[in-house]
Formats: sequence, structure tokens, C-alpha cells
Amino acid sequence: MTTILFAAGQRLWPTWEAPLRKALAEAGVEATLTLNAAPADVDVMIYAPGGDTPADFTPFVTCKLVQSLWAGVERIVTIPTLTQPLCRMVDPGLTQGMVEYVVGHVLRAHLGIDAVLAAQNGQWRPVIPPLASDRPVAMLGLGALGTACGQALAALGFEVLGWSRTAKAHDAIACHHGDAGLRAVLERAQIVVTLLPATKATDCILNEQTLAWLPRGASLINPGRGSLIDDDALLVALDSGQVAQATLDVFRTEPLPQAHPYWAHPRVTVTPHIAADTRPATAARLVAENVRRMLAGEELLHRVDRRAGY
Ligand code: NAP
Repeated sequence: MTTILFAAGQRLWPTWEAPLRKALAEAGVEATLTLNAAPADVDVMIYAPGGDTPADFTPFVTCKLVQSLWAGVERIVTIPTLTQPLCRMVDPGLTQGMVEYVVGHVLRAHLGIDAVLAAQNGQWRPVIPPLASDRPVAMLGLGALGTACGQALAALGFEVLGWSRTAKAHDAIACHHGDAGLRAVLERAQIVVTLLPATKATDCILNEQTLAWLPRGASLINPGRGSLIDDDALLVALDSGQVAQATLDVFRTEPLPQAHPYWAHPRVTVTPHIAADTRPATAARLVAENVRRMLAGEELLHRVDRRAGY
């Protein structure tokens, strides 16, 4: 019998147990799903940051799949004893949530909704926003989330400029990659969305130099990871008007400390890492499918490339 250890924490167990059991049954997987098991008996580990995930994976000698419930894996991929295959979460529910967050905040920046609300003072001063087709949006990251968000924005008429590590082609997105590609994308972007993973290569990808490439008055939306931004450089860019507004969902330290200047900054909107949550009803199907694949000796879905770090 296959043993699946739910090492994502007691807190998550009540919301995940039933969807996981249902999805495993639907996938035809016979397994013991448990909160406790001897390491040497574990075939699959389900992981989430802050759960009961072990710091040392050495005793898990029979484990052939570590399945993350989160899309971002920076907190586990760096553990040196984790040699078992690691897969990250790609979940239709999570993707839909991210599309809604990104489209909502892009439209807020595009339509100038903050300025409209601030001007609600009896003064009749019409300011007509440009059409979406005249508003270039940069999508940094063209993975599961960046592509879905880019396509949704393109469907609304936005000109979407995408950037990724490797070359890509999408009908609705003008794709760029590499260092020269980043500059080409940022130099045109009036709204920037960051959906990159936290890796050494993406640390402070938005810094004094790259923020200066933006047209003056651009807006930034970061639902990716806090490490993508050099916070000091962003605060300087906000104070100078180089960046008009920043909507930030993720931070180097979470919860964002009370004393952090982002909280009080008039041009910053803080959201508390709520852009997109994994939805157990849909995400459990990926977990079950990967367990099925592992047992059948088939290629796993969304396997993490340890060298790239995502
Ligand atoms: P993904 O499918 O792995 O896509 C990552 C994208 O980033 C890929 O297009 C990749 O390029 C690109 N990339 C990675 N390193 C790069 C580099 N050095 N230079 C240029 N491009 C680079 O990830 P995803 O599922 O879309 O998720 C993206 C991130 O969103 C996650 O890592 C996580 O941090 C964040 N997230 C946040 C929330 C939230 O609630 N705030 C929820 C879920 C996820 P290639 O295509 O060339 O590989």
C-alpha cells in the first residue's frame, strides 16, 4: 500500500483531507493518507511552507515524490538533503484567482480609479483614460500564472509585453527574454506585473537601474515574491514620481512589519499575500494525478528544476 504523508501542517488537514481522498479515489489510487508515518514508510510527501515539513529529508529513503501545495517553492528547493523529485502546484483555481487579482489591479491603474475616487469632491473635471490598446503592460514571468494573466489582459485589449528566462511564443503576448528583452519590455511598460519565482537570478530584478528604464509614472503590481524588488530603490522611485503607484502582495518579511514604510506610503497599496490561494477542490486533482504518475512510472507534472530553482 502506498503511504502519503500530509506534511503540510495540522492546520490545513481539515480543508485538504476530504478533497485529497476524493481525488485519489477518482484517480484510482489506493493509498494510506496520513498525518503521521515513519519516514522509512513514506512514498509521497505533501508539503506546504510553515507546515510540519522535515528539515532533513535523509530518512525518507522510499519517498519518490514531494508535492508542494504552493506554486512558489523557494523555501524547500534549497534544502540540501531534499534529493527526492519535487513538484510545484499548478492549480486551475489558483490560476483563476491570480487572473482576477491581476486584471482587477491593472484595470484600477489603467482607469486611474484611485484618482477618480480622490477627486470625488463636487468638481466636474472629466479625464478620459486611453483605451487598453494604448496601454502597454509588461508581464515579467510567462509561466502558468504570467501566461494566463497576460492572455486575460490581451483579451481585454491591452498590449501585453512578456518576459521570461527562455524564449517563448504566444499569439496574444509579444514575448521577450534575456537581459536585452527585459530592457525592451520595461522601456515601454506603463504597467508592470511581476510573476517571477524567487531565485538568485530574480533577486532585486526591479532595482534602481531597471526601475529607471520605465516610462515616468508607470505603475507596478507585484503578486510574485517580495525578493523581486529592491525596496529602497522602489521607495526612491515612488517619492520621485518615476513610479506612480505600487500594489504589493508579497514582501521579504511576512507579515509586513508595522514599521515598514510601505504601510504609510500614499502611493503604495499593501495586500496581505492574498493574490491567489491554492484551492483544495481543484488542486487535489493535481496531487492525485502526480501520485498516479509516480506509481505508473510516468513523467511527473510540474517538476521543479533544482538548478534553475523553480
Ligand atoms: P512558473 O510557471 O514556474 O513560471 C515562472 C516564470 O518566470 C517562467 O516564465 C520563467 O521563465 C520565468 N523566470 C524564472 N526565472 C527567470 C529569470 N531569471 N529571468 C526571466 N524569467 C524568469 O511559475 P508560476 O506558476 O507562473 O508562478 C510564478 C510565481 O508566482 C511563483 O513562483 C510564486 O512566487 C508566485 N505566486 C504568488 C502567489 C500569491 O498569492 N501572491 C500565488 C501563487 C504564486 P521560463 O518560462 O523561461 O522558465
